[in-house]
Amino acid sequence: MILGGEPSERYNCSRASCDAVATAALAWRNPKIHAESRRKIWLACADHADYLTEFLRARSFPVETMTLDEFLESPLHENGSPE
Ligand SMILES: [Zn+2]
Repeated sequence: MILGGEPSERYNCSRASCDAVATAALAWRNPKIHAESRRKIWLACADHADYLTEFLRARSFPVETMTLDEFLESPLHENGSPE
């Protein structure tokens, strides 16, 4: 997955084996290994946004969800770490 590039670029779901178009972005971090200001970004399609959010919450990782449009307009788009 590559972030950046043309706005019309297709963004795919981060869920393994899913290549549906992403409609949401999850900004999260693992407090044990990531600094306070660090954010990892996962993209999610409509089917997997809840799944991925629950996956992170189950591990007690702080997670913020936003729409893909919100993500692309946010500083996280520039500063986040694609995963
Ligand atoms: Zn998906």
